[in-house]
Amino acid sequence: MDQEIDYLRISITDRCNLRCIYCMPAEGVQALEHDDIMSYEELALFARAAVSCGIKRIRLTGGEPLVRKGAVDFVRMLAGIDPGLRLSLTTNGVLLNRYAEELKEAGLNRVNMSLDSLDPETYGMLTRTGRLEEALDGLHSAIEAGLEPVKLNVVVLKGINDDPAPFAELARRILVHVRFIEYMPYFGAKNGKWFVPGDEMRSRLERSGELEEVESPEGWGPANYYRLGGALGTIGFISPVTCHFCPGCNRLRISAEGRMKTCLFDHDGVEIRGEIRGGADLSRPREIIEGELERKRREGHKKPPADAYLRVTDHMSRIGG
Ligand code: SAM
Ligand code: SF4
Repeated sequence: MDQEIDYLRISITDRCNLRCIYCMPAEGVQALEHDDIMSYEELALFARAAVSCGIKRIRLTGGEPLVRKGAVDFVRMLAGIDPGLRLSLTTNGVLLNRYAEELKEAGLNRVNMSLDSLDPETYGMLTRTGRLEEALDGLHSAIEAGLEPVKLNVVVLKGINDDPAPFAELARRILVHVRFIEYMPYFGAKNGKWFVPGDEMRSRLERSGELEEVESPEGWGPANYYRLGGALGTIGFISPVTCHFCPGCNRLRISAEGRMKTCLFDHDGVEIRGEIRGGADLSRPREIIEGELERKRREGHKKPPADAYLRVTDHMSRIGG
């Protein structure tokens, strides 16, 4: 059976308040000009067209989505498209303390938060500019606001944050779902030395106690989840490098500059902004989306070439993860 393509990721900005070492260079990435970014009205028009083509879940990402002014109002705009639409956000959490309640009230359902270390010094080194305390405040605010289940994304880097024990302890105590993500070595694998396979992390975790495999709830993405005895939360593994998930891929992406991609590895994607700018109705974006979804159904679920990661020419902060 064809995989239903029902999930849209919207990158609302390429800007970020952190500089994670696996995502961005220390000096940051040349920011897009204001005029080169899709307005919220344009993105909402695109989202409406996508929903009419079968999209049921939308995730806002970035860069850091909460650094773009008006992100809460944009959530409200999206929530108005269809009451059944599920809305989520991927964030580094630094600004969640300020916005969690407003986001919930605007119609956001849940949050994925990047949190790569629970040690203040390592967190500071990994994010280059971040403070662990702010991220933890953000995590607790999201839980208190009811933006659950909160999932934590941990990109594992060898010798830096590859001990699963602190996260296992966190998932024991609070209801969070930690996902260890394999580092994807972009840009000529300059930092391939950081790579740790997901299986290796799982073996390390098994030393902390018996792992019970739990069924991954619908819409939780391509991770396998486990629970350590007595724990409130779970631990999952997302292994885009050792276990490619193209056959189950249900994603459509649009970047802040209005390029639509049906695959993370698409080179340029399809330019949408020019089609929408100037108040086009739904028919043109619909036609483009349907054409691309059809192409993805036809040819998109094949395993990518082994060097696909090295051919990606954009930063993750622009693609949106
Ligand atoms: N700023 C938000 C955040 O950090 O959650 C959203 C954008 S960020 C680009 C989205 C996701 O991409 C994050 O969960 C991050 O862990 C992931 N990511 C970025 N670079 C990566 C890499 N080289 N390998 C694996 N995941 C990566
Ligand atoms: Fe910013 Fe997210 Fe990239 Fe970190 S992973 S630099 S928080 S966009």
